[in-house]
Amino acid sequence: MTTSGKDIKFEILRQYWGYTSFYKLQEETIDSILADRDSVTMLPTGGGKSLCFQLPALIKNGTAVVISPLISLMKDQVDSLLNIGVKAACLNSSMSFADQQLGVEELRQGKLRLLYISPERLLEGSTLRLLKLIKLSFFVIDEAHCISHWGHDFRAAYRGLKIIKEEFSCIAVHAFTATATEAVQKDIVIQLNLKNADIHVGSVDRPNLTYRVFARNNLLKQIIEVLDKHLDEPGIIYCLRKKDVDNISEKLNALGYKTLPYHAGLTDKMRHDYQEAFLQEKVDIMVATIAFGMGIDRSNIRFVIHAAMPKSIEHYQQETGRAGRDGLSSFCYLFYGGYEFRVLSSFLSDSPNEKEMLCKLQKMYNFCAEPKCRHKVLVEYFGQKYEKELCDACDYCLEELELVENPLIVSQKILSCVFRVNRAGDFGFGAGHITDVLLGKTSDRVRNLHHDKLSTFALMKEESIAYVRYMIEQLLGQGFLVRDAEFGSVFITPKGNDVLRGNCVPVLVKPLLAKKKKEAAKKAVKKLAADWSNVDKELFELLRKKRMEIALEKNVPPYIIFGDKSLKDMASLKPINTTAFSDVFGVGSRKLHDYGDIFIGVIRSYLDKL
Ligand code: ADP
Repeated sequence: MTTSGKDIKFEILRQYWGYTSFYKLQEETIDSILADRDSVTMLPTGGGKSLCFQLPALIKNGTAVVISPLISLMKDQVDSLLNIGVKAACLNSSMSFADQQLGVEELRQGKLRLLYISPERLLEGSTLRLLKLIKLSFFVIDEAHCISHWGHDFRAAYRGLKIIKEEFSCIAVHAFTATATEAVQKDIVIQLNLKNADIHVGSVDRPNLTYRVFARNNLLKQIIEVLDKHLDEPGIIYCLRKKDVDNISEKLNALGYKTLPYHAGLTDKMRHDYQEAFLQEKVDIMVATIAFGMGIDRSNIRFVIHAAMPKSIEHYQQETGRAGRDGLSSFCYLFYGGYEFRVLSSFLSDSPNEKEMLCKLQKMYNFCAEPKCRHKVLVEYFGQKYEKELCDACDYCLEELELVENPLIVSQKILSCVFRVNRAGDFGFGAGHITDVLLGKTSDRVRNLHHDKLSTFALMKEESIAYVRYMIEQLLGQGFLVRDAEFGSVFITPKGNDVLRGNCVPVLVKPLLAKKKKEAAKKAVKKLAADWSNVDKELFELLRKKRMEIALEKNVPPYIIFGDKSLKDMASLKPINTTAFSDVFGVGSRKLHDYGDIFIGVIRSYLDKL
C-alpha cells in the first residue's frame, strides 16, 4: 500500500466514522480487499468486521454486494451507513415492491456503494442477471460460518454461494465470520472456491467481558442479585427451554423488572415486536432461548446471564459475545448444574454426531466446573494461545472463588460413597441420593436400601446440601465422576480411581463466605467505577434521552444515532462548539452536520444550569 493509499484509509475512517485508529487486523483485511485478493477474516464479535468491508467499498469503483443471513442485520447495517452519509440499500422480501424497485434503480444507476441481499435472493436468476449489468467492486459473505456443517448456524442456501466464483470469476470474494475453528475456515475456502485466499485470524478473546460461573441453587434469587447490580442496564437472560423463559420472565415482571420473553413458541409477530422493543431500547431485559440471537446488533448490551449451561463452548462464546460490542466493560454470568447436562445429552441421543456433540457438552461442563482462568480456557479451546498471566476479568483471576483447603479428603469421601452405594446395589445412583447418604439423611430410600449401614453414611453430616452437591458437580465436571445420560446415575472414572488411591488431587472451590462475597463485590464496583471516571452521569442520561427522541423520530435504533461510547465521551469532554464536538469518539462529518448542534445544545443548557 502506498502512503497515499494509507492516508486515504485513515482519512475515510476519520471523515465517515469519526474513529482515529484501526482495530487489530482491520487494516490488513482492508488491504486484501483493496488488492482484489480473496480473503477469509475471523474476528470476534465486536471486532469491527463491518468496517473492514464498508471502508474499502468507499474507495473502490462499483458496488460491493454483501450477502447477509438476516433481514434485521441488513437493515441495521444499511441504516448505520445512511446515517454516516454512505449510500447503501438492501433488497429483501420484507420490503414493498416500490421500495425494491427504487433500490434496483439506484443500483442500475451505480449510486450504491453497498448492496445487502440474502443468499436466497442472490441465487435467483433475475438477481444474477441484474448484477451482471452492474459494475461490481467485490462480494462479501457475512456470517460465513453458515456455509459449514461444522459451524452452528448451517444454512443450506449458503452452499449455493459457490456460484459467485462461477458467474463472476474476476471479482474477489471476502468471507467474514466470528467462528474461529480451523475446520470452519477451511470449509469456507473450499465451499466458496476461493483462490489463494488471504486468511486473517484475530484473537477470539473478548477482554472487555468479565466471566463469572456459579453453581445454580436458588436461580431466581441468583438472577435478581445480578439484575440489581445492573439496574437500568440492558441485558439478556438465556434459558434452556421455552417454559423456563416464560416462567422467569413472568416472575421478574411481577417483581417489577421490565422484561420480555422470546422463544420459538411465540407467534412471528410477537417475536418481531419483542425484538424491536429490545433493539429500540423500549425494554432492556430479554429472557430468551437461543432462538434470540443472530441479528442482535444492539451494541450496548452490558450483561448476559445464562440460567443454564449452553451445549457447547461455541454457543457460549457466541451468546456471551452479544455483550459489549461497543468495547465497554460488560459482564457474563453463568449458572450451571448437572440438570442441563442430562437434558442436553438426552437431546443428543438421536443425533448422527452424538459422540462429537457429547464431547463438546463435556468440555462446556469442564469449563464451568474447573477453577481456571475463564479467558484462558475459552481462548485455548479455539486453538489459540492466551498470553496473559492474569486476565483480571474472571471470577478465578479476581480471586472470587475460594479454594477448598483439603480437596483430596473431600473428594475421597464423595468418591468412596459412590463406590460403596453402587456396589451395594445392581445399578448406579444419582447425585441426590449420594448427597442424602453423605449427609446422613434417613430417607425411605436410604433405609430400604440399607445405605444407612454403609461406612460412608453421614460422612459429611456437618456440611450443607448445597455444599455437597456443588462438590459432586465439580468432580463430575472435572471427569472424576461420570453421569449416565439416561438415568443420571453417577459412576467413578479411572481418573476418579486415581483420586481414591491418592495419586491425583482435584482442585475444588466452595461458595464464598458472606465477608469474602462483600469484598469481591466491592472490588467489582471499583472496577466499574473506573469505567465511568470523568463521565458526568447526569449529563450522560440527558444525552441518552435526546438520542432516544431522535431515534424515535427517525425510526431507527438509538445505537445507530450514537453508541454509548460516544455519549460517554460527550459527557466527559463536554464540547460546546463544533470543533470540540468533532473530537468526540464516533463523530464523522455527517454526524457532526446532522447532530452536532442538537447535542451541543443539550450540553450547553446542562452547563448553564450548573
Ligand atoms: P462485528 O461485526 O465484528 O461484531 P461491528 O462491525 O459491529 O463488529 O463493530 C463493533 C463496534 O465497533 C461498532 O460499534 C463499530 O462501529 C465499532 N468499530 C469498528 N471499528 C472501529 C475502530 N477502528 N475504532 C473504533 N470503533 C470501531
